[in-house]
Amino acid sequence: MSASRGLRFAVRSDVGLLREGNEDAAYAGPSLLAVADGMGGHVAGEVASRLAIESIAGLEAAPDADPLAALQAGVDQAQDRIRERIAEQDALEGMGTTLTALLWGDGQLGLAHIGDSRAYRLRDGELARLTHDHTYVQELVDAGRITPAEADVHPQRSVLTRVLDGRSALDPDLSRLDARPGDRYLLCSDGLSGVVSDETIAGVLGQGDAEGAADRLVELALRGGGPDNVTVVVADVVDRGPDTATVPVVAGAAAAAAGAEDRAAEPVPPRRGRRWLLGIAALLLLAAAGTGGWLWLRSQYFLGVDGGQVAIFRGLDGSVGGIRLSQLAERRNVPVAVLPQYERERLSQGIPAPDLGAAQRIADRIATEACAPRPSPHPLPGTAPTPSPSAPDAPCPAAQP
Ligand code: MN
Repeated sequence: MSASRGLRFAVRSDVGLLREGNEDAAYAGPSLLAVADGMGGHVAGEVASRLAIESIAGLEAAPDADPLAALQAGVDQAQDRIRERIAEQDALEGMGTTLTALLWGDGQLGLAHIGDSRAYRLRDGELARLTHDHTYVQELVDAGRITPAEADVHPQRSVLTRVLDGRSALDPDLSRLDARPGDRYLLCSDGLSGVVSDETIAGVLGQGDAEGAADRLVELALRGGGPDNVTVVVADVVDRGPDTATVPVVAGAAAAAAGAEDRAAEPVPPRRGRRWLLGIAALLLLAAAGTGGWLWLRSQYFLGVDGGQVAIFRGLDGSVGGIRLSQLAERRNVPVAVLPQYERERLSQGIPAPDLGAAQRIADRIATEACAPRPSPHPLPGTAPTPSPSAPDAPCPAAQP
């Protein structure tokens, strides 16, 4: 591979339409591309993905190293830095991140991968997926138990089997690629691949320049509902000329000022999240004994019913091997019995929410609905509507004693 070969790249990262913050981070430079998708309570996900990107970004400066050895060293460094940050700050316990990175080195292109972000290559109009998702549903697909189409809509599709979490020596997937001029690479977080099909991605990558393709992919993810942060890096393999961009770009959480660390220091209930993750992870370890995997749950919430009242649960509405994947996060003072029939049905099936803030907004709306005066179906002329009897724990502020 010619030493003058390089990458012409475009990077986009968008918070999406439902999340409150961007926990994705990305880096692109003339010889390194990387995407990380962080997870953890509060801003911990942002810290984890930024630490991973910062660690891996150092590889840009060592173009003569073997790319796979360099990538492994970058992953090890990211693990160390995440472990150190957690040791410094309790609020960050339980954080983790995916990492998918491409590196030029010693005339070759190397790929490192952990988690469910993805790398694709478009060559001669054909799209190839270069990474294998480290997810519970991918293991089910590999075992022939479900189809890829079923995996796309499976309730446990967010459960990860491998993640950079600072806890132990990690075994990233490493591979060498035979990059050719004209190849176009895409790295993306699941905010794109979970919403936009591979066929559509192939169509977009097949047209225009890297900048235009990156813009279009993010636009499609947002049009698809934008349920998650969406990050894309599009890069063309080119013979490096005087006009080839060489200024690296960072995006998402990695681009945020160091203020993010200060925000992470805000008081949060960290221990609870940590215990929950450890408890669930321990149970999942048993459940996943057959697959040999250590399963990771992304932060995820849903609304349901607990003790006859509207409740917010953290985790996934379902079970693996008969073990529940959720824990009560908050119970609202809203008896389900006062809600309209359709709302009771939705709650009994579980109403998903991408984060705690979104779940709380849905709970607020349901509470407001419960409090709204509903006219009697047969009002008697000349009489005021009869107020419904006030339960001791009635949800509406006006009804409180
Ligand atoms: Mn994501």
